[in-house]
Amino acid sequence: MLAYTYIEKGKFELRQKPVPTINEPQDAIVRVTLSSICTSDLHIKHGSVPRAVPGITVGHEMVGVVEQVGPAVTAVRPGDRVTVNVETFCGECFFCKKGYVNNCEDENGGWALGCRIDGGQAEYVRVPYANQGLNKIPDNVTDAQALFVGDILATGFWAAKISEITEEDTVLILGAGPTGICTLLCVLLKQPKNIIVCEKDPVRRQFVRDHYPGVLTIAPEYALEAVKAHSVHGGADVVLEVAGTEETFRLAWECARPNAIVTVVALYDKPQILPLPDMYGKNLTFKTGGVDGCDCEEILKLIAQGKIDTTPLITHTFPLSEIAQAYDIFEHKKENVIKVAVRNQ
Ligand SMILES: [Zn+2]
Ligand SMILES: [Zn+2]
Repeated sequence: MLAYTYIEKGKFELRQKPVPTINEPQDAIVRVTLSSICTSDLHIKHGSVPRAVPGITVGHEMVGVVEQVGPAVTAVRPGDRVTVNVETFCGECFFCKKGYVNNCEDENGGWALGCRIDGGQAEYVRVPYANQGLNKIPDNVTDAQALFVGDILATGFWAAKISEITEEDTVLILGAGPTGICTLLCVLLKQPKNIIVCEKDPVRRQFVRDHYPGVLTIAPEYALEAVKAHSVHGGADVVLEVAGTEETFRLAWECARPNAIVTVVALYDKPQILPLPDMYGKNLTFKTGGVDGCDCEEILKLIAQGKIDTTPLITHTFPLSEIAQAYDIFEHKKENVIKVAVRNQ
């Protein structure tokens, strides 16, 4: 089968590999129908994910059809259309039982697919702990509608969930990239009084205005004054930082009102500075970290009910055979790309 493979720093290549087989009783083999490219894939390509193993198939956003299951898999059966969760988790350990599945103590716990074990930019993928790692796609939901459920949409959903948003709140979202927009979709479900999206790219600001009327968009240089003008208590009640730059990290705490919740979703290339003397008395609550991707079933229900639609994010589609071109467009943000879908015939 064809599999897009991490060869070495700076180099991915489409290679022929054997179709994966069941290794463990809880494994499933999924025939991938649609996959996508994530910024984390680019981090692997650029060598900034030390855990990534050369030779592995990349890709951790995908949907497909269950082809085969191990004897301990009860949640899905061959023939089921499924979303694949970016995170592998055992469901049994201390962290899994608390819902902190990102910190699953299993050796493959957390982000393994397409990083430490073969992922889904391929024709088939082996999914460990398939009872937790796969969710059935409702009949009225298409593959394209479900494509982001296991990764960026799970992240947006989790970010909105932990941010304790109320209907009285002014919510500031920093970043309108794919994960920022997924976060926006999930924040919209909480119906806060105001939502402000801060994004430096005018094309992406326009995308937000076109698709989500009622959401205020601003450029970073005007963020502080805009947030103050649109909030009652001198700043945003809730801030979600989904951009991952030094400037947006600073804006996250600057734009927050005293006693606000600041949820940091972004992944940074380097350490950030919290100037505690300047922040003294602001009494902020920071929430940080990687998605606990265990709400996929609920997210799929919301999609089936028409409450979340991420299909406008798919601006480009390529066959797997042309995935290198898909990467080129995504990596260099050509043609106003937001997300690229990669389909298998
Ligand atoms: Zn990702
Ligand atoms: Zn676990």
